[in-house]
Amino acid sequence: MEKYTFTYTIYSGGEDTPGDVMTLVKTAAKAREGAYAPYSEFLVGAAIEMKDGTIHTGNNQENAAYPSGLCAERVALFHASAVCGDKKIKRIAIVGGPRDSVESSPAAPCGACRQSILEYEERQGEPIEVVFAGVGLSPIYSVHSVKDLLPFSFGRENLEG
Ligand SMILES: [Zn+2]
Repeated sequence: MEKYTFTYTIYSGGEDTPGDVMTLVKTAAKAREGAYAPYSEFLVGAAIEMKDGTIHTGNNQENAAYPSGLCAERVALFHASAVCGDKKIKRIAIVGGPRDSVESSPAAPCGACRQSILEYEERQGEPIEVVFAGVGLSPIYSVHSVKDLLPFSFGRENLEG
């Protein structure tokens, strides 16, 4: 029998929350306001902080042909990769919740987004912190590396045999 454990941090969104984390979470919340989610009415914003301090945002983009839409995290990730090339990502913040809610539970990235974040984590060889919250921005969950959210993951080394 083996055991898998990981540690994570829960911030209140108040005094205990590091300033740079809070700033990124608020940026994600602002990006959420521009989401195009007429079908689910569940709006998500994502903000990516690069190691050089630049920020890239995204929000969910839905489509009448449902699978053609894309999550906020991947909109932000793909944009960051498109314009930054192989610059490194420090952290990604995600804020999600129903359109008119003022409080919701923390919106963790879906499985497909975890897989996408992992791709960039492996590409840069350094962990990407994943921070996520509901629309009330409290509590805020922080995970040191996306690998903690994706045990026994499939990655590029699998393709190398
Ligand atoms: Zn997703």
